[in-house]
Amino acid sequence: MKRRHQRTALALLAAGTLGGTALAGSPAAASPVRFPADAAEAVTLKAAAVSPVTARAAGTTASRIATTGKVVTGGMALNTRSGPSAASLRIGTIANGTTVSIVCKAAGQFISGTVKNTGFWDRLSDNSFISDAYVQRGDAEIPKCTSTTPLPAVAGAWMLPVAAGLVSDFRTQQRPAHDGVDLGATRNTPIRAASSGTVIRVVCNVSQGSCDVDGNPSLKGCGWYVEVLHAGTIVTRYCHMVRRPSVALGQTVARGTILGYVGTSGSSSGPHLHFEVHAGVPATRENALSPIAFMQARGLTIS
Ligand SMILES: [Zn+2]
Repeated sequence: MKRRHQRTALALLAAGTLGGTALAGSPAAASPVRFPADAAEAVTLKAAAVSPVTARAAGTTASRIATTGKVVTGGMALNTRSGPSAASLRIGTIANGTTVSIVCKAAGQFISGTVKNTGFWDRLSDNSFISDAYVQRGDAEIPKCTSTTPLPAVAGAWMLPVAAGLVSDFRTQQRPAHDGVDLGATRNTPIRAASSGTVIRVVCNVSQGSCDVDGNPSLKGCGWYVEVLHAGTIVTRYCHMVRRPSVALGQTVARGTILGYVGTSGSSSGPHLHFEVHAGVPATRENALSPIAFMQARGLTIS
């Protein structure tokens, strides 16, 4: 028992001290860094800092699955992370014995695991990473990941829809009718469901012309957009997508499912995500909440 506690403490320490930096920083360090063997990726569920959430498959647009593997830790749960390192943000955990779908592999932190010692990490179909040191699988060729872009921040049942800075705040003095926040993500950045729920709106909303072309500020409407209804009658809205959203009306989505991609359709001056949170259905001006305050209350910072 003592040893188990030690390694858990070390693993959590690594996550706590380096997680934020890893999220903001550039992808995957090129050269594998050897951490102490005790900083293992396997952790006890009981000691998890946040409630364990099993990684779920993202939207149907997710990359092709190269092979499957079985998580073998000897009993503990395995961390899923936003990048190929124990210092990357922890997304959730996967129970020992679970079969996982592997999309690609990335070079990252060297880990001594129960199956092998390796610096390779497997990216799963929800874009999270697990150390290949704890994965039992066949010899199928796994392609190298072309991108190891970190996932947006996650806390419990919620996450930010994109990893991008705040460009324009909720109802500022200059824009009192701005019922959401503008997040400065680049064109074609995946937009993720902030929490699990049901898609209740998939709409092209523009005063003139099409949502499949770049809009401009003289138009009205939020272009291609999606609304998701979550537990507690919370509605989230995602605007200005670059093309028709990736999800369909009535579809059930998991936290992190890709809803569509960042663009500048509708009333918009450049690619960004306009994100709204509403307390009630239908979403109206009256029930709009500050996404910053809403996310802050759930441990997520938009800044
Ligand atoms: Zn906006």
